[in-house]
Amino acid sequence: MVVRIDMSFIPVDLKRTLLKSFDENGISGGQTGYNENLIMFKKGYSRQKVKEFLEQELKKNDVNDYLVSENSEDEWEIAILRKGDIEQLGIYPCIHCGMVFGSEEHRTIHERVHYF
Ligand SMILES: [Zn+2]
Repeated sequence: MVVRIDMSFIPVDLKRTLLKSFDENGISGGQTGYNENLIMFKKGYSRQKVKEFLEQELKKNDVNDYLVSENSEDEWEIAILRKGDIEQLGIYPCIHCGMVFGSEEHRTIHERVHYF
């Protein structure tokens, strides 16, 4: 299995910027067509590593209104979401680690792990 990123929630120009830097760094696996919304990473890249890379890229490009979140139901998937859109999508990210949940209840249960 390889790490995937769901880029369907971000605008085309940001997507292009990110895809370009994946190519430049040689970390995307397979085709990364500009029409693709689901981007695969090369084997050997952990979700944590990909997440850190994405966060760095967003910072480097002065993108402050998007966040990188982990899918709690799929350990291989990451999504880039706009902060303001998150609640409308019915997604509840953990404020500590960015992992996302489908309900506030599940997020609350998860957030307890950070207190121990
Ligand atoms: Zn968390």
